[in-house]
Amino acid sequence: MFTSLSDRLTATFKNLRGKGRLSESDVNATIRDIRMALLDADVALPVVKEFTHAVRERALGAEVSGALNPAQQVVKIVNDELVAILGGQTRRIQFAKNPPTVIMLAGLQGSGKTTFAGKLAKWLKDQGHTPMLVAADLQRPNAVTQLQVVGERAGVPVFAPERGNVAGYDAAVESGEGTRSYGDPVTVSRQGIDEARARQHDVVIVDTAGRLAIDEALMQQAADIRAAISPDEVLFVIDAMIGQAAVETAQAFAEGVDFTGVVLGKLDGDARGGAALSVAKVTGRPIMFASVGEQTKDIEVFHPDRMASRILDMGDVLTLIEQAEKAFDQRQAQEMTRKFLEEEDFTFDDFLQQMSAIKKMGSLKQMLGMMPGMGQMRAQLDSLDEREFDRVEAMVRSMTPFERTHPKQINGSRRARIARGSGVSVSEVNQLLERFTQAQKMMRSLRRGGGVPGMPGMPG
Ligand code: GDP
Repeated sequence: MFTSLSDRLTATFKNLRGKGRLSESDVNATIRDIRMALLDADVALPVVKEFTHAVRERALGAEVSGALNPAQQVVKIVNDELVAILGGQTRRIQFAKNPPTVIMLAGLQGSGKTTFAGKLAKWLKDQGHTPMLVAADLQRPNAVTQLQVVGERAGVPVFAPERGNVAGYDAAVESGEGTRSYGDPVTVSRQGIDEARARQHDVVIVDTAGRLAIDEALMQQAADIRAAISPDEVLFVIDAMIGQAAVETAQAFAEGVDFTGVVLGKLDGDARGGAALSVAKVTGRPIMFASVGEQTKDIEVFHPDRMASRILDMGDVLTLIEQAEKAFDQRQAQEMTRKFLEEEDFTFDDFLQQMSAIKKMGSLKQMLGMMPGMGQMRAQLDSLDEREFDRVEAMVRSMTPFERTHPKQINGSRRARIARGSGVSVSEVNQLLERFTQAQKMMRSLRRGGGVPGMPGMPG
């Protein structure tokens, strides 16, 4: 899903890493790359233009943030704008005050409408609702049977015109004819809703007919059904694999039938997917669900923010950045800088403060889990021992104030006392002191511009 777009954007951000500040030409080059990546992914041109314009404006006037470097700021801006074109807030189904809630599905034939009807029914059922499906696709001879199969799989009842009761139904099935309507979908939809009300189902999902391409008759039929049943939601199902044509199809449905939300279908395919990304922006209607496979369980509520960070392959790095901003204490940072400049040594008290800042951001494991690319390292992450940090903290807390500011004075008997006080071995205390002295040495040599000790040739 969006793999190549994701790869391209990530590569663009890599070029910015390590830059202290961004010049106008850095920003322009980045915008050019983003623009190409979006166009290559089939995102519609007007959407690309608006997107890159917004990113450029914001990147040039980059909001100054103590916790973010310029590259991170650009990622944050691109992320914010992606969330915006994907519709901003997560939009959930609006249930009717007086049940049943009526949900009508519309879209082209083959978009995955019938499959989605089953997924939605199952999803609603799992949430404690009592949905019923209505087969109002009387265009395609097999559609009714298909919905019955789908309903059975979902464990949800299906209202369908009886075979033989609908004039021409059997003949149409036998001849395989799919272009002529052999029943009245408006009547079937109405009957279905009445039936659902009588049987006290709280949601009705009406599956309507699609055609292979947009045509007048199809639009008219869908509009007639809509007028007759006044649905609470009209969900437009679009096949993410149809590329640029998605925008045109969505516009035609928006004008012809109008809909309240979009279902992005077949997002599991390796389609470039960009056209689907334009749909929310172009039609002004939110994406509510994603369909990600052929099984009944393959349905996801669409969250613009999560989709954006998935596209940027950022894991939840933005959550991480926000937490860093919160934990980042301006006064503490200034104090560290002062010590650095005035050649004062770092003490164990500073060390404790840093540990508590990390703790404020959540557990270390959680934090690492949010880092991009850590998904594949789950196993190593699981073996990370958080207790190691607790042990270090316990040792520092067992030191007296004098010892914390004068680590060199911690002799053998003091070490034994610290070990006893924190429940660790003396050799663990020795290791901690050793590492601390190393770190202090490194700081001193950095200050003198001498580079990192033990690493000759490293630029200072
Ligand atoms: P309809 O004509 O709009 O009702 O479409 P169908 O529900 O019959 O689906 C058309 C085809 O797309 C079928 O072969 C489905 O199995 C397949 N399909 C539906 N949804 C998905 C999906 O999310 N992912 C994939 N890969 N295939 C899907």
